[in-house]
Order: sequence, then C-alpha cells, then structure tokens
Amino acid sequence: MRDIRELSRRKRHGGELSAEELGWIVEEYTAGGIEDAPMAAWLMAVCWAGMTEAETWALTEAMMRSGEVVDLSGMERPTVDKHSTGGVGDKVSLVACPIAAACGVCVAKLSGRGLGHTGGTIDKLEAIPGLSTDLSAERFLAQAREIGLVIAAQSADLAPADGKIYALRDATGTVDSPALIAASIMSKKLAAGAEAIILEVTVGSGAFVTRLDEARSLAELMIAIGERAGRAVGAVITAMDQPLGRTVGNAVEVEEAVAVLNGEGPQDVREASVVIGAWMLVGAGLAEDFAAGVEIGQAAIESGEAHEKFLQMVAAQGGDTMAVKRPLLGWRPEVTGEVTAERSGFVSRLDARQVGYAALSAGAGRRRKGDELNPAAGVRLATKVGDTVEAGDVLGEVMAASEAQLAEAATLLRGAYVIGDEAPPAREVMIEQMPPAGDTQR
Ligand code: URA
Repeated sequence: MRDIRELSRRKRHGGELSAEELGWIVEEYTAGGIEDAPMAAWLMAVCWAGMTEAETWALTEAMMRSGEVVDLSGMERPTVDKHSTGGVGDKVSLVACPIAAACGVCVAKLSGRGLGHTGGTIDKLEAIPGLSTDLSAERFLAQAREIGLVIAAQSADLAPADGKIYALRDATGTVDSPALIAASIMSKKLAAGAEAIILEVTVGSGAFVTRLDEARSLAELMIAIGERAGRAVGAVITAMDQPLGRTVGNAVEVEEAVAVLNGEGPQDVREASVVIGAWMLVGAGLAEDFAAGVEIGQAAIESGEAHEKFLQMVAAQGGDTMAVKRPLLGWRPEVTGEVTAERSGFVSRLDARQVGYAALSAGAGRRRKGDELNPAAGVRLATKVGDTVEAGDVLGEVMAASEAQLAEAATLLRGAYVIGDEAPPAREVMIEQMPPAGDTQR
C-alpha cells in the first residue's frame, strides 16, 4: 500500500519517485483520497529537493490525463497555445491570443488564476461581468471551432488535477519549484491539444525565477516536455523586475489589454504581445519568419480585427461586451488613494513582487484558498523605472474595498519605489527568444 507520508519523506531526502507513484499521488489527490495537509507537505518536499526530468515528465503526464485530453486535430486552422510562467501586470495573453486568432490561428487555451504575488488570466477575464471560464471540454472545443479563440480555467473535465494542486500551491507557498511550474503549465498545454506552444518565461523580482540561467533552464525543461509529447515549443524570456504595463489587478488589467488591442496602451505590453503573437504565427506556419509575424500581428491591431476577436470571445463566454468599453469594466472601487514621491529624482527601481503584494492586499489576489476577489481592486502606476519625479508627484494609485486594505496596499506600493539621483540604465523587456523550430537564437 502506498502512503503519501512515505513518498514525501523519500522525496525530502532526495529520492526519485517512479511514474506509478507520481500517477498515484495525482489520482488520489484529485479524487479526494489525500488531504490538503499531507499533499502540501509533499509539494514542499518537491520545492526543497526538486525533481528529475523523468519525474517532471511523469507528473505532467499524470496531471494531463486527470481530465480529458482535447483533440484539436479536426480544426480547420493551425492550433497554437501560449502560456506565461507568471508575472505582475502580465496581461500579454489577453492581447497576443486575440492577435494570433485574428490572423487565422486557432487558440484554445487553459489558463490559471492568481498564484502567489502574480496575477492570473482567469481572474482577469472573470472581472468582465457575466464571463464564464468554467467550460466543459465539449464547449471548449465548440468555441475553438466556431471563433478560433477560447480561454478557460481548469475544470472537472480539463486538467482537474492542476486546478486542485494549483490552488493548494497558492495557499501554501509551494509555487516556486521549476518542476511544479513546468508540470502545471505543460499539463494544461498538453490537455488543451495545440500542435505548437509558445511560452513566455519571466525573470526578475516579480517572477518565480530571478536569475537568467534559471529562466533558461525552466524554458528548456518545458521545451523538452513538449518535445516528448510531440509538440513544437518555443519560448521567449521576458523581464519581470518591474511590472509589465501600468496596471496591476483584474478589471484594471483587462482595461489596459483592451487599450493595447485598440492600438494604444503602454509600449512594453504592446511589444511583448506582438512578439509572442509573432511567434504564435510562426508556430502556426502562418508567418514565414519572426519579422513577418510582427508585421502581420501589428496589422491585426491596426485594422481592429484583434480587438474584434477579443470581443467575440467575451460574447461567446457570456461576457458583457459593453462593459469592456467602460473604465474598470464598469466596476467602482469603494476607496482610492495616491502614493506620492517623498523626494525628487529618477525612479531607479520599482520592485514587481512588492507591487504584486500591494495589489493582492488591495483585494486583487487571494491570501487563502477560495478567497473572493474584488474585481475593481488593484494598482495604477503613474511612474515607472527611468521616469523623473519631483517631491510630491503621484507615483501610483491604489483601488480597494476598505480603508484598511488601502493603507496596507499603499504602504507596500510606496516601498516598491526607489528614487535615486542617477538615471538607471535603459532596460529591455524581451531578453531572449527560443524559436519553436528548436534551434535557439540568442
Ligand atoms: N502558470 C501556471 O499555470 N502554473 C504555474 O505553476 C505557474 C504559472
């Protein structure tokens, strides 16, 4: 008889678990046969001791097989998926997927909720009044066929093991293990069935890996898993030392993503989205090379087709398309407050992790499993790294449901800013690109 306590102990001491043992853990936990406390201890053992590539593959496969594996082979369009390893203010999926879909790719994507200090595409989409992300495998497939764009959460049908394990990792601080991240992401990608996958691997204080060599090995691990499963996987390593864009939260990030789809919005979000969209087009065989992908993707923004595709997805999932046109999707925060500069100078640092915790404290993220989110909560950043400020200038604004939340979030946001005397060096958002074909262009 297997015992989760024994498997945790073995893992903690650096032992390797077999594919059968990992399959048993996934199956039992998903079915309710292992309780949260021993499962959390096992997850912590994995964070501590790591996993071999063979173990990570076995865990991924078991998680993928916990629900249905969608068959997209009958789609008329090429199928490509996209996923981020997580970040603060990272709304790239909300822009890149509509761009690719507007250009003829079928994007059938399973996304996650907020994890730790990072936001999640599902929480952001659910800020759109009426929109459902809990789709059966049948509805997921039908929407992919009809409009070529669907973004859903893990459900009873689709990657249910990741749905449960993900929520437990979030609640127990067991997120930042490369093996657990790779298995979580790749199980969803493989279950959703796309032929090609483009990964956005973030690195920096707001990401789950803070060093470039760690980001490269996480990307390489996921590429290897994808290859074992016969999928073409590419990766782009992006900077996450300050938040992406100027908004962090749920409704507020959808608002910014829609602005980018309308040809406006911050340059860094636009650049990251167009780059990821371009690789999705290359992965689909709809663009000859990266440069052509950029051109085709940009044209889809300029013509309004990418925005129109986003609205089609919102409508198909029951969302209010009129709300998408309103500031904060029509939500009103109970209280708002500004954080101002205490001195003049250059913004030399804006710590993404701390901004993520500010947004979480304002009500945009969870402290405990099952916490309700406030769609209106979050942060707007008036200044970012490199900007000059005078003492008293507004650095950012916090939106929350109560004065207590506001005060805590504002303190965190204030602490995220460092103002110095020297202009910081210019920084790139896109750090490295690993094309889906396999050979690395660095
Ligand atoms: N995104 C996921 O889906 N899972 C992780 O573990 C991290 C980011």
